[in-house]
Amino acid sequence: MNSYDVAIIGSGPGGYVAAIRCAQLGLKTALIEKYSTLGGTCLNVGCIPSKALLDSSHHYEDAVKHFEEHGIDIPGDIKVNLKQMIARKQSVVDTTTGGIDFLMKKNKIDVYQGLGSFKDATHILIKGEEETEIEAKNTIIATGSKPSNLPFITIDKERIITSTEALKLKEIPKHLIVIGGGVIGLELGQVYKRLGADVSVIEYMDRIIPTMDSGLSKELNKVLKKQKFKINASHKVKSVERVGDEVIVKADNKKGEEVEFKGDYCLVSVGRRPYTDGLNAEAAGVTLNDRGQIDVNENLQTSAKNIYAIGDVIKGAMLAHKAEEEGVFVAETLAGQKPHIDYNLIPGVVYTWPEVASVGKTEEQLKEAGVAYKTGQFPMRALGRSRASMDLDGFVKVLADKTTDEVLGVHMVGARAADLIAEAVVAMEYRASAEDISRMSHAHPTFAEAIKEAALAATGDRALHV
Ligand code: FAD
Ligand code: NAD
Repeated sequence: MNSYDVAIIGSGPGGYVAAIRCAQLGLKTALIEKYSTLGGTCLNVGCIPSKALLDSSHHYEDAVKHFEEHGIDIPGDIKVNLKQMIARKQSVVDTTTGGIDFLMKKNKIDVYQGLGSFKDATHILIKGEEETEIEAKNTIIATGSKPSNLPFITIDKERIITSTEALKLKEIPKHLIVIGGGVIGLELGQVYKRLGADVSVIEYMDRIIPTMDSGLSKELNKVLKKQKFKINASHKVKSVERVGDEVIVKADNKKGEEVEFKGDYCLVSVGRRPYTDGLNAEAAGVTLNDRGQIDVNENLQTSAKNIYAIGDVIKGAMLAHKAEEEGVFVAETLAGQKPHIDYNLIPGVVYTWPEVASVGKTEEQLKEAGVAYKTGQFPMRALGRSRASMDLDGFVKVLADKTTDEVLGVHMVGARAADLIAEAVVAMEYRASAEDISRMSHAHPTFAEAIKEAALAATGDRALHV
């Protein structure tokens, strides 16, 4: 039987990054994955394929709506070749997951394909084509998550679908009904909206992206409405039924009146649930909480002291970069180091266009905590860069402590916000004040100038270009 210092169950961004860091630190490492490709949800059916389709559909929309204004005439009709679009997405996925195979070999990590299942706290059965057993002094559980559902909905994977099926549809829906106005619903909703579908979003809460700063929800709502999304907030879905090729969704609106939606596809995107099926966690003495997450302490250690858990299967934001930080954290802890994660500084991004990005505290959180703060906001449309590219929607908002001027949160909607948020993360990591940001030179013309201008606004109405 092969013995390891560390076995990692699950090869998503949490698991494979943990494996690389363990190997870098000299630990003999095994990685177990039940699917034939590495990379987990993120690389196979999550972050990467969704961004590939967002980019392709964005190009199409630009060609149809904006090329003419830029002075680019295309003779004949511009058409979507969905089969090719999905094939390109798949080749991006294949190249990316293939890259993980390379990294495992390079770092001399033993990869086992099969379902990992605890026999006890130091032995794992791997049920693949053959059954193998390995011994591990320490194990990291990185088994991730699966789509959640509502109890009365049957996902048939044809017309009533999750994100996994939405990434490989064979036709463009005529009317896509999206249940859940969160990240997946809006990103994939926008893909099909751009390709020509009508999209109706049904959200239970009173606003889309309800966990982000309410200013971002409001701005994104405004922009999506301009893009002809039909957004139905404060709607409680009560039934989803397939009749032939039609899907009928019934919901109660704020007034308690029944509203009916008829479409040809329904995407259920109401969150994801931690995944521990087949893991046999109890045999290792690993306990779950009442939400099905693996219980961990501040060192990400489970109720079994040689077993750790990271990523979507534990509490916290279900984000690839959060899982990666936790993978590094556990590897370094096992090697005797004293790592640290500041969860307040894990950014959140929605890859719609305009993009939405956020780090630190929202206004709602600051109000609830009774923190005295000041706000500086700057509209993207006031930037020369925005006019040059015709990306006028959105703003940057900087929230700073009223007394000390320390930046407490940065929230933005706009072109390239997903990349711009890194500046805010760096600033907050070094506990910058709004004044610090406002005195840094920002290249002109860039979208990043909006961050400087918002910081100037936060320090006392000093924005230069409004
Ligand atoms: P996962 O990536 O879920 O990986 C877990 C792996 O464990 C899987 O491969 C699974 O097969 C394997 N496994 C489970 N049980 C066993 C077992 N018993 N034995 C062996 N293997 C097992 N996040 C972002 O930060 N940015 C984005 O842009 C983004 N886009 C997304 C888009 C979509 C459509 C979806 C669905 C998710 C997206 N996410 C995004 C979320 C992101 O994918 C997850 O947060 C991330 O994948 C979590 O990583 P993980 O390592 O915890 O688990
Ligand atoms: P989410 O939590 O972002 O959104 C789910 C939405 O569904 C919420 O707005 C919620 O209020 C709503 N909802 C819940 N129950 C409902 C009901 N009964 N009727 C109507 N609406 C209901 O979850 P998601 O969009 O499914 O994504 C799952 C996870 O994947 C998220 O945690 C997210 O962080 C991650 N993800 C991240 C990215 C990214 O980083 N860009 C992209 C996709 C997914």
